[in-house]
Amino acid sequence: MFKKIKGQDRVIEMLEKAIEGRRVAQAYLFSGPKGVGKFTTALYFAMALNCRNEKKRRPCGECASCKKFLHFNHLDFSYLFPIPNMELKDDGTVGNPKFLKEYEAYLTNKKETPWKEFFFTTNSEIRRDSIRVLQNRLGMGTHEAIYRVCILEDADSMNNNTANAFLKTLEEPPANTVIILTTTQPERLLPTILSRCQEIHFHPINKSIIQEILQTEFMADANLASSLAKLVNGNLELAISLLDKSDSEARELAFKIVELIGLEKEEEFLNLLGTFKTGRNSAFMVELIANLSLLLSDVIMLKNHPEEVVIPANEEIYQKYYMINPSADDILIDVLPQLESMNQQARGKVNPQLIVIEIYNRITRRLYQG
Ligand SMILES: [Zn+2]
Repeated sequence: MFKKIKGQDRVIEMLEKAIEGRRVAQAYLFSGPKGVGKFTTALYFAMALNCRNEKKRRPCGECASCKKFLHFNHLDFSYLFPIPNMELKDDGTVGNPKFLKEYEAYLTNKKETPWKEFFFTTNSEIRRDSIRVLQNRLGMGTHEAIYRVCILEDADSMNNNTANAFLKTLEEPPANTVIILTTTQPERLLPTILSRCQEIHFHPINKSIIQEILQTEFMADANLASSLAKLVNGNLELAISLLDKSDSEARELAFKIVELIGLEKEEEFLNLLGTFKTGRNSAFMVELIANLSLLLSDVIMLKNHPEEVVIPANEEIYQKYYMINPSADDILIDVLPQLESMNQQARGKVNPQLIVIEIYNRITRRLYQG
């Protein structure tokens, strides 16, 4: 099953060697950009550590143990990720059911369409009570696993208090237990945590590999696959979710913004800004900006290579740009790299409304007056 993970051959080879040579570390830190396979690699590594199949390359994905990991219901598997405050009790039961549905939806999404970003409607983090539940579980014996495995996804979302509580587990790791932390921002972890983990760095995925996956596994046509591969900066998950436009709110909003610019509807744009007041985390903004770049590249294509327009259904709106300004393509060619740098900014703590206003201003200022 490791073959399913693309573009991370070096990492996988290292992990397989650790299993073969019985040199498995007690704690790993999988660091690297979003959408490059950190979680999937962690899950498959957990499976490989426990796979019972003697004949196949592990993990087989078929034995009872592998299947339990794939369904997240292996008794010796703990998966912690940023969640809203659910007032967890020591035995893991939920004290406040308000976010239970969202929590379950998060897990379903992770199992079935892991490349899609899931957004809780409120702030989420790996919480002190989740760590307490984990520590209680680890205090009990192993059920059936060769190695118990805990994955802490986005470990940098722990506040200092929580991180210090978790540190105790890293300092005295229980036997036959492998802890895997994942993060896009290793610099935000406590040095005391970093020093106790073996760090494994994941690189952005090569453009040509992304293009190939989109074409062969997701049946994208060559134009779209190539445009997306150039846009996403090595983030395969983002490329797949951009391809899958059926229910993408980010795509819809991006189109709305492109439309309002083309129709010169400033007032409606100001109304739209209201939807960016809450519940837009940086992952959403990154997806939005990527979608905007995709649509604006289409506007450029329309004039120069109309056969390569990715979403022909929008052509009428794209035409409006050239009615406002016949050099719209040149303006957008200038603006696109700026969006790229805003995409980088959006990964930090930023105000989503300000980002959208900035984008809108940069385009309209030149389009309307140029
Ligand atoms: Zn197996």
